Amino acid sequence: MNTVATRSPAFDQQGKLTDEQRVDAAVGSFVREFGVTAALHIESCVHCGLCAEACHFYRTTGDAKYTPILKLDPLRRAYLREAGPFAPVVRALGLVKKPSITDLQQWQELLYDSCTMCGRCTLVCPMGIDIAELVKEARHGMYKAGLVPERLALMDRTARQWGSTATPGEDLADILAEVAQEHGVEIPCNLEQADVLVTAAPAELGEHTKALADAARILNRMGVKWTMHQEGFDAANIGFNNGDLELQERLTRSLIDTAVKIGAKTVLLPECGHAYGAARWEAAKWYGQALPVRIIHMTEFLDESITSGRIRVKKVGDTATFHDPCQIVRRGGLEAAARRVLAALGFDLIELQDHGVTGFCCGGGGGVVSNQRATPLRQKVFALKQQQIDATGAEHFITSCGQCRATFEMGAKQAHWDKHTESLLELVADNLDA
Ligand code: SF4
Ligand code: SF4
Repeated sequence: MNTVATRSPAFDQQGKLTDEQRVDAAVGSFVREFGVTAALHIESCVHCGLCAEACHFYRTTGDAKYTPILKLDPLRRAYLREAGPFAPVVRALGLVKKPSITDLQQWQELLYDSCTMCGRCTLVCPMGIDIAELVKEARHGMYKAGLVPERLALMDRTARQWGSTATPGEDLADILAEVAQEHGVEIPCNLEQADVLVTAAPAELGEHTKALADAARILNRMGVKWTMHQEGFDAANIGFNNGDLELQERLTRSLIDTAVKIGAKTVLLPECGHAYGAARWEAAKWYGQALPVRIIHMTEFLDESITSGRIRVKKVGDTATFHDPCQIVRRGGLEAAARRVLAALGFDLIELQDHGVTGFCCGGGGGVVSNQRATPLRQKVFALKQQQIDATGAEHFITSCGQCRATFEMGAKQAHWDKHTESLLELVADNLDA
């Protein structure tokens, strides 16, 4: 991808492809990825409409265009024309229209601005259609066509160049030295041998350094031999968000390959859920075998460390409610781990009306929080969550994903809401017992 050619409120495009080439690139990508699973999913919709009510974008706007399955319409049309069992007949009789450039341009908003790939629609679908996964595949085609929101395309270009969306690897040691000094904690970097490779979310090397320092404090307290490393440190999922799956594979492989190189048996993902899907679940597919290292999220690490008695925490003893990050809980399966940590901290948990695997997304996942033009829509979704949090009357509002936290903080600022979003990791670090 190179220069930005066009900008409108509805869509962005990159590169110099003609309209026809963009359509061919998108449809070609869809067709290449139509495996048996995608075909079954597309064929099996019974139009029950249950996915609509599950989606926070539909729920908060009432606009039928945000019905999850409808967000896949150009993908469905490409399938019926090019890969379905009756494709030659469909084409010959013109039964289904080929997606046009206008369709793809209009589609950009549905795929990127109004889908956080949270998987709530997938959960309720009686036919088991994985709409979030199909959105990911559709985004891949859009990336190939150079039809990605410009904010995300910019991050993609940076990540392709630096191996990180925000930090060149060669700057890591200096940044970590500053974080270590600011917070008074030791942060090892580029050790040649360690047992645990620790990774960071982009914000933890910028405005949220406390989370990284707190992880260091806990690891050091436990006596773990760990390091961060400039060859693999950014727990990003920018490739998934954009549809640049080749980049995502490269970024994820860099974490695992670096761990193998330094002899680490574990890669610890930060308190940001977004790398979890790529590293924990997709990476084995890219490797074609079981991964040579264990990939764990910070919530699992905290849970295991407390449960095994390797760290002890003081009781806070207030009421709290908890936001379940979609990628960690609904799609990642870590619902109980966070609740065990909250119990160890002595919180009296008041659950949100929708919580656990059925919790609503923060509204910023899937790159929506980085896609500035989606802000008004994101704010509508935020109001749904805000109402559920307020209804609990809890003293603390806690989550275990830094990206969700950033989304809530932005939403609170815009809504003049005075609720502070707290980090599970930071609460553990702040309440470590001797
Ligand atoms: S994945 Fe989430 S945001 Fe996307 S369509 Fe489904 S429910 Fe809506
Ligand atoms: S819930 Fe599933 S079957 Fe029902 S309309 Fe949505 S995608 Fe189709």
